[in-house]
Amino acid sequence: MSAAQTLQIIDAVYIVAVVLFILAIKWLSSPGTARHGVLAGEIGAALAVAATLADPQVVQYKWIIITLIIGAGIGIPLGMVKMTAVPQRTALSHAFGALSAAMIGIAEYYVGIPRVTRFEMGEIALEVIIGSLTFTGSLIAAGKLQEILPQRPIVYKGQNVVSLSFLAAALLLAVALVVNPNYPHLFLIMVAVALAFGVMLVTPIGGADMPTVISLLNSYAGFSAALLGFVLNSKVLVVAGALDGSSGFILSVIMCKAMNRSFTNVMFGAFGQVQSSGVAQKEDRTVRSATPEEAAGILAAASKVVIVPGYGMAVAQAQHKVRELFDILTKKGVDVTFGIHPVAGRMPGHMNVLLAEADIPYDRLKEMDDVNSDLPQTDVALIIGANDVTNPAARTDQGSPIYGMPILDVDKAQTVMVIKRSMSPGFAGIDNPLYYLDKTLMLFGDAKGFVGDIVRELSGGHH
Ligand code: NDP
Repeated sequence: MSAAQTLQIIDAVYIVAVVLFILAIKWLSSPGTARHGVLAGEIGAALAVAATLADPQVVQYKWIIITLIIGAGIGIPLGMVKMTAVPQRTALSHAFGALSAAMIGIAEYYVGIPRVTRFEMGEIALEVIIGSLTFTGSLIAAGKLQEILPQRPIVYKGQNVVSLSFLAAALLLAVALVVNPNYPHLFLIMVAVALAFGVMLVTPIGGADMPTVISLLNSYAGFSAALLGFVLNSKVLVVAGALDGSSGFILSVIMCKAMNRSFTNVMFGAFGQVQSSGVAQKEDRTVRSATPEEAAGILAAASKVVIVPGYGMAVAQAQHKVRELFDILTKKGVDVTFGIHPVAGRMPGHMNVLLAEADIPYDRLKEMDDVNSDLPQTDVALIIGANDVTNPAARTDQGSPIYGMPILDVDKAQTVMVIKRSMSPGFAGIDNPLYYLDKTLMLFGDAKGFVGDIVRELSGGHH
């Protein structure tokens, strides 16, 4: 086969890979097709790697094989972490992706000088800046999520000015390099400044905002790869990077909208510091609590139940018990659906993944708008470890930090039951007026234990 023919075949394989990437993203957007999406993405990536290795410009495989083995040695255990560790695992993947994009850009520069054109220099500089800041930013994000670093926002006066001046410095150095690419020392300083900026960008952000930050960093890593595609003249990298960059960006926008917060607020708002004052004032208000027996009786008498899972279900790993509850109620003829808020839990799709793990049929999972039209006709809304996503203050209290955030209107149901351990607030650190309503029963306890107790009561009554 001639070299020209090989190149044609490689291009054809790249096109197939790109189509598979697009299908992967399309299919990942619904739980029913998500598994196909994962498979399409994997096959696409494998094809793209194989086609790249077949390129006649690749002259020897020794180092490639050695690094593949090292990469697999790191990647396989990383892929097997617990569900709750997925956010930090994802952050680490972005860090590695961004590091490799940055390193290839750096290599292109040093191999290329003194023949690097101004245009190439612009591409390389931008790509290396984004790659470097994404690398350190993602490491900090992973550290915060793993609680190696303090979760709370670390802020000081004038911080934004200092941080942004680092970004400005990196960009100025990039401009200087475009004017004259032949300054290898300047290039190194630019890389160092961008690395420092990544640290400064993420340190002031609270641990609980990390999923949004990661999604944003994901999109930076994608754009950096797309720019690298231009540098290397690789169309497949341009397309894959652009898909990654834009889908990450759209996801960040969806997350911000669902929390009713702006990008600026997430990035510079130092959100998530618990505001305990409001909670203390309201302690004199009464709440009604109930036992597992009482809760089981109410559920068994209902004909329509909506279960709203939240972060507490993930913490307690209660999804399998929830599945048992779903089975036993369904068997008793109760219509049970799940109300999924887009930012319930701590990462996008958190609840979907947990409920899928427990094999709950995905046609029982309802999105916010559908659930909200069902709730007024619902007998019991059973909330399991969710808090902010059910807080009616978002609709009524203009002074609330979550005012305007779309919520699940569980207070419209006939009866509301809330499983949580105490009256403590959730992520937003605010009191929830839902708990003081006459129709609300608090079921105090760990989600897994309490749901287990209800299941025991229900099956006891059954036999
Ligand atoms: P919340 O954080 O509002 O509330 C979770 C509740 O779970 C707590 O009030 C806690 O109460 C309870 N809980 C904790 N552990 C247990 C346990 N073992 N058993 C029973 N209950 C438990 O969670 P939501 O899911 O309602 O809301 C998610 C929040 O996270 C929103 O504010 C959202 O904006 C934010 N967020 C979400 C992201 C996402 O992508 N999903 C990303 C970033 C932020 P108690 O201590 O009394 O048990």
